Amino acid sequence: MEWATPFFAATTAAATVFWLLQTLAVRGERERARLAATRAEALERERNAGRFNLEAIISGMQEGLLVADRNHVVRLVNKAFQDMFGIPSNPEGRTVLETVRDAAIEGLVREVLATGQPRSAKLEVMRAGRKPVHLAANALPAGGTGGVVVVLHDITRMREVETMQRDFVANVSHELRTPLSIFQGYLETLVDNPDMPREDVDAILLVLQRHSRRLNALVEDLLTLARLEARKAELDLVPLDVGQLLAGVVRDFSIAARARGVALSFGCSPERCIVPLDPLRFEQVCGNLLDNALKYTLPGGTVTVEAGIHGGGLFEMVVRDTGPGIPAEALPRIFERFYRVDKARGRDEGGTGLGLSIVKHIVALHGGEVSAESALGKGTAIRVRIPVARGA
Ligand code: ADP
Repeated sequence: MEWATPFFAATTAAATVFWLLQTLAVRGERERARLAATRAEALERERNAGRFNLEAIISGMQEGLLVADRNHVVRLVNKAFQDMFGIPSNPEGRTVLETVRDAAIEGLVREVLATGQPRSAKLEVMRAGRKPVHLAANALPAGGTGGVVVVLHDITRMREVETMQRDFVANVSHELRTPLSIFQGYLETLVDNPDMPREDVDAILLVLQRHSRRLNALVEDLLTLARLEARKAELDLVPLDVGQLLAGVVRDFSIAARARGVALSFGCSPERCIVPLDPLRFEQVCGNLLDNALKYTLPGGTVTVEAGIHGGGLFEMVVRDTGPGIPAEALPRIFERFYRVDKARGRDEGGTGLGLSIVKHIVALHGGEVSAESALGKGTAIRVRIPVARGA
């Protein structure tokens, strides 16, 4: 059986080679399959990533987006669109009219599909409580299956700004008209009556002087507001000794307070209170608040100013008076431009209606905020808070 050993060895070797070849072939096959699977996975990932990005972009858009085919059937809407129209479920497959239930929008879509021309319009979406929107509808390229893409842009904020601008111009015109018509009337009286007694002429001149001062104050306040609202409004911050500044401002107002019979006092804690502030602008804040407190407080009343730095690095100043107070419903509005609680009284007192609005702007530029507390018949406190940076 000697032959058996080499035969067995050869057979074993052949089997081993065969097994090896087969294993390699299988491995190659497996490797090819694995590589193919990896490539397919990579492709799928790329495709998904692309789709994800597109979907993320569409769903993240603030504008409402709707795509409809040439048969007016909705093919895609994003979340913003669904929110705008209060559509709870996906409207894909329904018609545009069924989806938006708005004849104006449906009409524009119809026009775009019929003409292939883009259309845009400002409309109010009734289903969203008359939300003003800008709509742009464009035809999809003719090469594809055709259709229309509609983009809706919420223009509520733009409308609010337009209204504010219109109101502002109306308010300014109204404020200017009163003194100007008084000038005109009195000047005509003076021209028509050259022999008017001296004391009558003096009385008229005093009225004209009062109104010209008011006009001047109004123009000054308007210019101040315009400067504060300009983007480049910058502060000239210096380490300010608030106690010293307040002592000066209170001194300036003490004559007016005495003439009005109002007790005026101030305190600062700590006495040497150094805060980084813009001196001229902060002086205007103090001046406007003191001016109001004295203007609205009756003789026998008191006005106090307290300032100080509290724990946590917060500078606070409160101007308190024992005046008539402000009704709760008017309190949030007193910082609006031209808002007056008592229209006639504010104007009679020579107020422009812009003082607190200027205060609010200046305090905001310092990174702080201003608030008001008031009790009718008891008095008002206007509180200014400005954060002080550590180590400042
Ligand atoms: P004005 O020039 O009319 O004083 P402001 O902007 O300074 O304008 O104030 C707005 C309105 O807030 C005033 O017209 C007044 O009605 C009310 N107001 C402001 N400060 C006080 C106060 N200390 N006491 C009572 N009412 C006040």
